[in-house]
This record gives sequence, C-alpha cells and structure tokens, in this order.
Amino acid sequence: ATLSVAGILSEAATRHPDRAALHFMGGATSYRDLWDQTRAYAGALRDRGIGRGDRVAMLVPNVPDFARVYYAALSLGAVVVPVHLLFKADEIAYVLDDSGADLLVVAAPLLGEAVPAAARAGVPIVTVLLPADAGVDLPRLEAEAAASVPLVRHTPVGPLDAATILYTSGTTGTPKGAVGSHLSIVEQVHCTLIDAFDLRSDDVVFGGLPLFHTFGQTAVMNIAFRVGASVILLPRFDPDEALALMVAQRATVFTAVPTMYVGMLEAARRSEARPPLRYAVSGGAALPVAVLEAFSAAYGAEVHEGYGLTETAPTVSSNPLGEPIRPGSVGRTLWGVDVAIADPEVEEAIALIEPGDGLGEIVVRGHNLFKGYLGRPEASAAAVVEGWFRTGDLGTYVDGVLTIVDRKKDMIVRGGYNVYPTEVEAVLARHPGIAVAAVFGVPDEVKGQEVCAAVVAHDGVVLDPDEVIAFAKERIAAYKYPRVVHVVPDLPLGGSGKVLKRELVARFAPVP
Ligand code: ATP
Repeated sequence: ATLSVAGILSEAATRHPDRAALHFMGGATSYRDLWDQTRAYAGALRDRGIGRGDRVAMLVPNVPDFARVYYAALSLGAVVVPVHLLFKADEIAYVLDDSGADLLVVAAPLLGEAVPAAARAGVPIVTVLLPADAGVDLPRLEAEAAASVPLVRHTPVGPLDAATILYTSGTTGTPKGAVGSHLSIVEQVHCTLIDAFDLRSDDVVFGGLPLFHTFGQTAVMNIAFRVGASVILLPRFDPDEALALMVAQRATVFTAVPTMYVGMLEAARRSEARPPLRYAVSGGAALPVAVLEAFSAAYGAEVHEGYGLTETAPTVSSNPLGEPIRPGSVGRTLWGVDVAIADPEVEEAIALIEPGDGLGEIVVRGHNLFKGYLGRPEASAAAVVEGWFRTGDLGTYVDGVLTIVDRKKDMIVRGGYNVYPTEVEAVLARHPGIAVAAVFGVPDEVKGQEVCAAVVAHDGVVLDPDEVIAFAKERIAAYKYPRVVHVVPDLPLGGSGKVLKRELVARFAPVP
C-alpha cells in the first residue's frame, strides 16, 4: 500500500481485524469495524466534494469519531486540520481562515463556538454525535455515511504531500499552522517503535492526551494503530476516572504530560487498584525527577521521558526502553533525527557550539521536520535556518544524550544571573506538601526580574509560603530560589495539559 497516514489504519484492519482498536465508554471497536466506518465517512466526505489537497478542519474530542473523521479525510488525500478544543469562536474562525478550510466537522457539544466561527469564515459544517432530537438543523456525517469509498491500494497522495496542519498550541503569540507530511508522520511512528518503545498488538495504551495535538495523535494513536494495539479513549482527563479505566481495560502503557502524572499520583493515594503497566512515557514539558520517581514507585512502572514539538512530528529524542533511565535527561535521538546545539544569540545563521561545549539552543534536522508554517514564509525562514529547525529550547547534548534546560523565553534573568524555572520547579516538587509547582519571572525594578512560584498543595495539606521559600533557599543558590510564593488551588493549563506561564505572569506580576 502507499506510504500514507491512512494506510496505518487500513493495514491494521488487514492484519488485526478482530483486535480492539478503541475502548470507549465500556464498549470496544474492532479494527475491521473502525476501518469500515472510516470508509463510510470517507464516502460521505467525498460526496461533499472533498478530495486530494482539500482541508478538513475538525473540532472533535477524544471519541471514536475523531479516528473515523481523521483517517477518512486522509484516505481521500485531504489534509486534516484538528482544532484546539478549548478555542472560542474567534480562535476557531482564525484557524478556519488561516488554513483555508473547505469543511468543518464538529462534535455536537462544541457547536456553540463552532457555528458562529464557521459562519464568519464561510465554511460549511457537518456534525457528528448530534442526537436526532437536538432540534438543530445541521447535516450529520453519520446520516450521510451510507456508501463507502471502495477499497483502494493506492491512496492518492505522495509521501511528501501534506497530511496535517497542526496549530502550535499558542503558549507563544499567534497560532501558526505547522504542515506535516505523510512521510514525517509515518517515519516518526516507525523510528519511535524501533528506537524508543516496543509496542505490540496485545498492548493497551492510555489515550487521555488530546488527539488534536501531535503528542496524542501520533505518539498515542498512530503508533498504537500501526501495530494493532488498543487505545482507551478518554474525552476529558480526570485522574480517578483514568485510573479506574486503566484498571478495567488492563492498560499496559501510560503516555502523558507531567501534569497528568501529578494527577495520577493523587489518584493513587485514593485508590489501591493498579493497571498492569509495562512502562510509561512522559513528554511535552519537563517531568520533575521527584514526580518520575514517585510515579514509578506508586505504579511499578519505569517512566521514559522524551522530548518533542509540533514541528518535529513530534518526537526528537527519548530514553529508550531497555536502557538505564537517566532522570532529568530526554535521552537519545531517534534514528535519522539530528540534534545540535547552536548559539542562541546568532539569529540569522546557525552557529554550532562544539559537542560537549555547554548550553545553547537545541536545533533539529531530519525526516521528522515539518514542511513549514502554512502561508508564512518569513516565520518559516526564521524557524528553519540552513536546514536546522530552531526549537527555542535551551539544552546540552553530551555523549549523545540530550538534556533540556528550559525554554529560551521562560528563562529568568535576575540581577544579571540566569535562572531556569525547570530547575527550581524540580526542587519544589521534592517538598512533601507540594503536588505541583510553576516558576516564572515577574518584572522587578531593582533586579530586572524576580523569581516567583505558584504552588498547588497535596489534598488536605495547608502550605505556608514562607516555609516553602525557606525549603527552596536551603537547596539552591541564593539567586535562584523564589522570593514570592503563591499558594493556588490549581494552575492554568492549556488544552494539551501544559502550564500556561504567561497567564501566571499576567496574574502575579506587580501592576506598574
Ligand atoms: P507554542 O509552540 O505555541 O509555544 P508549545 O511550545 O507548547 O506551544 P508544543 O509543540 O506542544 O508547543 O510543545 C513543544 C515544546 O514543549 C518544546 O519546545 C519544549 O519547550 C516543550 N517540551 C516537550 N518535551 C519536553 C521535555 N521532555 N522537557 C522539557 N520541555 C519539553
């Protein structure tokens, strides 16, 4: 079959027809059924004129319809544009306009924001999961999905054609559409399977990461489907529900962002049941070593941290199975992915720092690179210089092992000294009363910036900010420990589960 992302599902339907592809709300969908339903959806999309190169935007949570719509559009050679589930009407309209969407597929609960957005952008809507009696007069994809597209061995795409347009999550400025090719996604899946994690058809993978984001889409769904493993879909992450589902479905692999790990630790204090995990994977943000160790102890599973970005399909590196875990590092690069460290101050060229020479900006090249930001030649040229993609992350690369220090833009300069929030967060995570901490800089007249922390206490613990400050002061240099600590009930999270630092800065920066 043609090298294509839809081929991942069609091949699994051939090789593992009776295996459960998805577990959802107590039911299971086999690969045979999922592929048949996908072809029916493809028929409905084709009848609406969708074909090669057209853009199908989708606003669908982690439900089986996400997979059906995603692979249906891809099997026609169309490009999928998954929209962030937390986006409001203006933001959805922006993505529809910017991506040149030809159609928006919406799950009924999200119509409130989607309908005005689609009207503004002049994009037709079809719905999924719309109850018949909803009293809303909108076309339904399920109802139209009568005829299937015939089985074809050759999807009408080439390996370098666009498969997805993924909008960067917006923790920096205006969302930009990163265009990913079929080759970058398929190669990513294969290299991750060979170099990082063995997945087998009898594995059951936790699917609580949002599928609109590259991490859930490829490092959970595409990779699991490639080998015929099962995915447990969870539309909204709730740690107690996640634990109960993983126990009930006998999950063997847990893939998540650090805030989910923190949630699972809280859930493990409330319930003794444990799923039969073989291993766990963390990525998307720095996993404090204290959280890694606590999770391993509570769940009896090694945690393998990896590093990736939307622009790199996503995985760049990981701590592979079968090798000793190196807490605090993000391991070795996947095959065919090149990493180097560049001088972050030199912008118009790539000034590589010799290996072992210390800290700089991580730059990446390889088969996993995106094709550029849609319609933004200048932003693309600034991001990919001399073939190297500038990640905006600071780190070291020593003896083939990559370590992330922090994002360039999150670094705090206090009185002329550089403070890396990730390091301070790792110290705070060792405090017995702290569940999760976020460290950020706020403007300060004397020091330029001051180190500030927002911390969430474990259930039932009352934290004293002065005691937290004293705890940090004992463990790190005087210029690094937070001078101000805010105890908060929770941290502001983006849709992919990452802490939104700019919101903390806006909330806690002193008003000038
Ligand atoms: P935006 O691009 O809009 O700012 P974002 O940076 O969150 O949003 P993603 O592509 O989701 O976009 O995330 C990539 C970033 O996540 C990396 O640049 C890096 O800063 C961070 N990251 C990913 N994995 C790790 C890790 N293991 N340790 C530390 N940071 C990580």
